[in-house]
Amino acid sequence: MKILLMGPPGAGKGSQSEKLVKDYELTNISTGEMFREANRNNEQLGIEAMRFINKGKLVSDKITNEIVRKRLLRPDAERCFLLDGYPRTVAQAEALDTMLDKMESKLTAVINIVVDKQAILERMVGRRVCKSCGLSYHLSFKPPKQQGVCDACGGELYQREDDQLHSVKNRLEIYETKTKPIIEYYANRGILRNVNGMQSFDKVYEDIKKALGEVA
Ligand SMILES: [Zn+2]
Repeated sequence: MKILLMGPPGAGKGSQSEKLVKDYELTNISTGEMFREANRNNEQLGIEAMRFINKGKLVSDKITNEIVRKRLLRPDAERCFLLDGYPRTVAQAEALDTMLDKMESKLTAVINIVVDKQAILERMVGRRVCKSCGLSYHLSFKPPKQQGVCDACGGELYQREDDQLHSVKNRLEIYETKTKPIIEYYANRGILRNVNGMQSFDKVYEDIKKALGEVA
């Protein structure tokens, strides 16, 4: 099984992919993680990539494709994997197809977690985090007993920079403009499966499994 999980920030992609990797014994291939590792190992490619990442920019298609190509050649990626954070552009999606073709392999499915933009905004903007112990709260879904104070340790609750309205809007917009063409690309190939992300974690996971059952 070779799958790709897509969805906007706040769609719960991280926890869903964690569970998928465990249950299906997939090799998790995360480009962000690979860049950090290559950088730690002082590889030229990693050093170059971190220069982009540290500036908040997307790493070039060339560098990203190269690190993925090398990773896919390792034996643990031969049978099944879950790709995380890649492809980010149509050019990368095309490059991935070429790589897999050469390996006489192909993607099993592309799972797209679909969420309501307004709900995502509410979900993310209401999040508060404890400055002292890191516990998460939510103004609507999991409010603290006393406003602005952590139940567990009495620490001060604050809103993370990237949870602020303008920032969340910005991230959602970037996602939409960059990924819509990729979603269309895979829809045209007939391997795209949309899953309703506006449900409980367990229900979303169940639907992903059903979608995988149809294509596997
Ligand atoms: Zn606390």
